[in-house]
Amino acid sequence: MSVETTARRVALVTGGSRGIGRHVVTRLARDGFDVAFCYRSDKDAALLAAEEARKEGAEVFTACTDVADAGAVRDFVRATEKELGPLHAVVSCAGIVRDNPLVMLSEGDWDAVLRTNLDGTYHLCKAAVFSMMKRRAGTVVTMSSVAGVYGNATQTNYSASKAGIIGFTKALAKEAGKYGVRANAVAPGFVDTDMLSGLADDHVRKMTERIPLGRFGRPEEVADLVSFLVSDRAAYITGQVVGVDGGLVV
Ligand code: NAP
Repeated sequence: MSVETTARRVALVTGGSRGIGRHVVTRLARDGFDVAFCYRSDKDAALLAAEEARKEGAEVFTACTDVADAGAVRDFVRATEKELGPLHAVVSCAGIVRDNPLVMLSEGDWDAVLRTNLDGTYHLCKAAVFSMMKRRAGTVVTMSSVAGVYGNATQTNYSASKAGIIGFTKALAKEAGKYGVRANAVAPGFVDTDMLSGLADDHVRKMTERIPLGRFGRPEEVADLVSFLVSDRAAYITGQVVGVDGGLVV
């Protein structure tokens, strides 16, 4: 009698220790992926996120890796493939904000946001996509934002990084499609994570009034979309920017 084993697919998520990324890690683990994720500094949060994913039955590999550092991202991707196997899905989730009106925006805050959000996405895809193309299988999800589609006052740096991610993702979809690799961007609206914890109550109220569904999104709801986009149910979807924003930009 032969015993059939079905190998688990492997997913790698940047910024998987908190917020949206953490929920993506848990969701993909539940979907049957083994999961690697990186974070920048909060080790305690990473330990909790890893524990949560293991409870879903996944093998988990984590590393403290700054996505702004190309060499470190390359090492993380290589180490993941060694620990867990070839990558089927990569999700570029790590992101930061440094808000200020343009006239007050420092070069440091411009650079930090572009380096993390946009360069980080480039570093991840550069390190991961070639082996996917060689295997003619794989899928990339990048994290844009409504700010990248429509712009947001006080966020010229963030909006530029998120708009750059859209152009990057569409170009990648065109390059990699013939090798069986898909690439899509997700554009969340306001999602209830630490990233928004600094917003004043009055601002939150005004923003909520603009959202047809009348509330901020939950990180699980973004993770549901990522789960769909990396799955075979989305086999004919590539080069898209998919909103998850409660109707904010309708
Ligand atoms: P969050 O709660 O602040 O979590 C950010 C995650 O990214 C953390 O795990 C953090 O790790 C990691 N990270 C930050 N900089 C990093 C770096 N240089 N290298 C590696 N990891 C890094 O943020 P979030 O709200 O979940 O946002 C996740 C993504 O969704 C971001 O790309 C964000 O722009 C996008 N997004 C969010 C919203 C929203 O409303 N929340 C809306 C649209 C788009 P440490 O804790 O160790 O720093």
